[in-house]
Amino acid sequence: MGTREILETMEFGPAPENTDDAREWLRKSSCRFGHLINGEWIRSDSLETQNPATGEPLAHISVGGAAEVDTAVEAATEALPKWQAIGSNARARHLYALARIMQKRSRLFAVIETMDNGKPIRESRDIDIPLAIRHFYFHAGAAQLMNSELPGRRPVGVCGQIIPWNFPLLMLAWKVAPALAMGNTVVLKPAEYTSLTAMLFADCLFEVGIPPGVVNIVTGGAQTGQIIVEHDGIDKIAFTGSTAVGREIRRRTAGAGKSITLELGGKSAYIVFDDADLDSAVEGLVDAIWFNQGEVCCAGSRLLVQEGVSERFHAKLRRRMEKLRVGDPLDKSIDVGAIVHPAQLQSITQRVSEGLKTGGNLFQPTVGLPAQGCFYPPTLITEVAPASPLMQEEIFGPVLVGTTFRTPEEAADLANNSRYGLAASVWSENINLALDIAPKLVCGSVWVNSTNMFDAAAGFGGRRESGFGREGGWEGLHGYTRPAGSNARRNRNTRAMRTKAQRQDRASDAVHRTYKLYIGGKHVRPDGGHYMAASTLNGEVIGLVGRGNRKDIRNSVEAARKARGWAKATAYTRSQVLYYLAENLSLRTEEFAACIVRHAGSSISAARREVSASVERLFHFAAWADKNDGLVHSVPIRGIAMATNEPVGVIGMICPAFYPLIGAISLAAPAIAMGNTCIVVPSENMPLPAIDLCQVIETSDIPAGVVNVVTGEQNELAKCLASHDDVDSVWYFGSGNPREVEHASAGNLKRTWTARAEDLDWLDPSPAQVREFLYQATEVKNIWIPYGE
Ligand code: NAD
Repeated sequence: MGTREILETMEFGPAPENTDDAREWLRKSSCRFGHLINGEWIRSDSLETQNPATGEPLAHISVGGAAEVDTAVEAATEALPKWQAIGSNARARHLYALARIMQKRSRLFAVIETMDNGKPIRESRDIDIPLAIRHFYFHAGAAQLMNSELPGRRPVGVCGQIIPWNFPLLMLAWKVAPALAMGNTVVLKPAEYTSLTAMLFADCLFEVGIPPGVVNIVTGGAQTGQIIVEHDGIDKIAFTGSTAVGREIRRRTAGAGKSITLELGGKSAYIVFDDADLDSAVEGLVDAIWFNQGEVCCAGSRLLVQEGVSERFHAKLRRRMEKLRVGDPLDKSIDVGAIVHPAQLQSITQRVSEGLKTGGNLFQPTVGLPAQGCFYPPTLITEVAPASPLMQEEIFGPVLVGTTFRTPEEAADLANNSRYGLAASVWSENINLALDIAPKLVCGSVWVNSTNMFDAAAGFGGRRESGFGREGGWEGLHGYTRPAGSNARRNRNTRAMRTKAQRQDRASDAVHRTYKLYIGGKHVRPDGGHYMAASTLNGEVIGLVGRGNRKDIRNSVEAARKARGWAKATAYTRSQVLYYLAENLSLRTEEFAACIVRHAGSSISAARREVSASVERLFHFAAWADKNDGLVHSVPIRGIAMATNEPVGVIGMICPAFYPLIGAISLAAPAIAMGNTCIVVPSENMPLPAIDLCQVIETSDIPAGVVNVVTGEQNELAKCLASHDDVDSVWYFGSGNPREVEHASAGNLKRTWTARAEDLDWLDPSPAQVREFLYQATEVKNIWIPYGE
C-alpha cells in the first residue's frame, strides 16, 4: 500500500510486541515455578498455565497444600516483629525501592502479563503495570507518614491475600503495598490462571532485599485459597474475586476473629443523559466495557440511555463497535484481546445465550475473530428488561446490556436496582445534574463524564454484594491497621451473665414497671407478648422488659428504612438535634443515675459519671456531625476525586453488657450523627437506662424510626438483624461469640463490626477509638470529576 493510499484509508497493519525477553525469563526458570516461602523457592505438584490467545503452554505453577501454607504462615509470623521494628522510614525505603525496580522491569512485566492473561499489551503496558508501580510509590509515602497521620493504629498482623486473574499484578500491588506499608506481613495467593507476574515480582523482592518471610507467595487454585482462609495463624483476609466466593469466605471466617475485606463483583451502571456529549460517551463506553475484554469488576456493563437520544446514541455506538479490533493481544493496535481461559469463554457464551431467552436485541459487529484462541466479539444487547439475568448478573466479558429511562429519578432507580454496588458513570454536560445523581447512586465510585478511573490515592471498593472495605487512599489503610490496644485475634471471655432461666424465673416475681419496645417512634408491646425481668445485681426484680423477636426486628427495620430521609437532613440539623438530646439527658441526670445505681449496684458518684460522660459523648458526636469531612484526593488527572463520607444505612447494634447507658449512647450517637438509622438492642442484664432514653429521644426532635430500641435476648436478636437483607451493618458488642452474626451476615454481605466490649474505653475513649466509630458509621464514595472541555 502506498503512502497516499494509507493516508486516505488510515489503515494500519499489525505492530507485534517483542516477546524475546519474556521467553528468556521463562526459560531461565525452566518454565517451572515454586512457591516463595521465607525467601526460598519451594516446589510442589504443579498445574500448567497457558497463553489464552494461542493455547500455547507457558509454564508450570506449583499448587500449594496445607504443608506449604503452614510453612508460609509460620514464616510470615516470624518475620512480623522484625518488619514492624525496622520502623516506617525503613519500610518506606523498601517500598520505594520495589517501585523503582518494577519500573525498570515494566516492559517485561507487561509482556508476561499479556501472554498469561490475554489482555492487550497496550493496556498492560500503559495501565496495569504503571498503576501497580504507582501503588508502591504511594504506599512508600503512607509507610513514612503512618506514625504521624495514623496515631493510635497498629498493624493487623499476618495477612492472607487472595486475588483474581483479571488484573494479576495490579491486584497484587493493591494488596501487598498497603499491607507492607502498615507493618504487616503477607501470604499471597495469585489466581491459578495468571501467576506469572507474581513470580516476576518475587524476583524484585529478592533484588530489593525485602527480608525473608515478609512476603510469601503460595500459588494454586480454590483449595489453596480455602486453606489460607481457614488458617488459624492468619489475622486478616483480603480477598478480591467473585461474590459467590466472597460469601463463602465470610461464612468460613465467621467467629474466627479475623479482620476481612472483600472486593467482589459488580454490574455497574453507565448512565447517559440527553444533554451528554454523545461522542465522548461512546468513546467512554469503549473503556467502560471493552477495556480488558470486559473482565473488569467495575465494568460499565449496564447501559442506561435517556429515551430522547437513545436511537442516535445506539447508532453511534454500533458504528464505533464496527471499528474495534479484536485479536492478538501482543499486537499494539488491538483493542480487545483474548478471554482469560476457555472456561471463562464458555461461561460468557452461556450467560448470553441463556439471558437472551428473556428478551433483548443482540448486536455484534462484523469484526473478524482469530481462528484459534479464546475470543468473544464485542456485544451489545439493548431493550433488556430490568429484571432479566442479563441486567442483574455479572457476565464478566465484553458484553454490554442496556435499556432506556425517562427522568433522572428513573435513572437512579434503575442504576440502584442491583444487588451490587461497585461503581457507576454519569454522562451529562450539566454538572448540577451529574452531581445531584452521584450521591443517589449506591456504590463506592462514581465517574462523572469519565469511566474506569483508578489511582493509588483514591479508595476503591463496593457496597452491598460488591463487598466491603476500600483499597487505595487513606481510606484503604484502615483495613491494614487496627486500633492500638485491641487484640489482633479475639479471645472472647464470656462475661458471667445471669442465665435466661434465672431471668425468666424472676419475671414471675413481684411486678414493677413494664417497659415496651420503642419502634418507629412508638412504645409498642413485643410481638410475642413475652417479657423478661430486669433486676438488680442481687436479683431483685425492678421491672419487666419486652422480649423482642424476629417480627419485632422486622418491624423496627421497616421503621428504620422509612426514616432514611434522616440521611438527607443537613449535617447542621443532625448536630443540633444531638445537642438538644444531650441537653435533655443532662436535665435528667439524677433520674438516670438512680436507675444505674439500682440496676448495676454502682455507687451514685460512678453512676453520675456515666450519665455525665453520656452527655459529653452526645456533644462529641454532635460536634462531629458537621465535621467528618471527606477529602479531595490528589489524583494524577486534570480533575479531582472527591472522597465523600456517606451514611451506611440501617445499622443494627448490640450493646455491651455493662455501662447500660453510655454503652447504648456510644453506639447510637455516631450512627445518627452520620445520618444512619438504627436498631439498638440494649444490655440484656441492664436494659432500663437504654429504654428510659427513648423518652428523652421522643422529646428531642429525633424523627420517628431513626432510633428504635428492641430489648430481649441479645444473641437471638443479633442473628435476626444479621440475616435481615434490609440491614446494612451490624455492630456486635455482646458477650457471646459473634460467629452466628458474621455467618448470617453473608446473606447480603452486610458489614459487621464485632469488637470485644472489654477492649474499648467506654468512659474516656481515645481519639482513635472515636475515629473507629465514625469509620464504622460511614461509607466512602469517591466521585471523580475531570475538568476541561
Ligand atoms: P474467583 O472468586 O473465582 O477467584 C478469585 C480468587 O479466589 C482466585 O485466586 C481463586 O483461586 C480463589 N478462590 C476460588 N475459590 C476459593 C475459595 N473457596 N476459597 C478461597 N479462595 C478461592 O474470581 P475470579 O473468577 O478469579 O475473578 C473474577 C471476579 O473477581 C469477578 O466477579 C470480578 O468482579 C471480581 N473482581 C472484583 C474486583 C474488585 O475490586 N471489586 C476486582 C477484580 C475482580
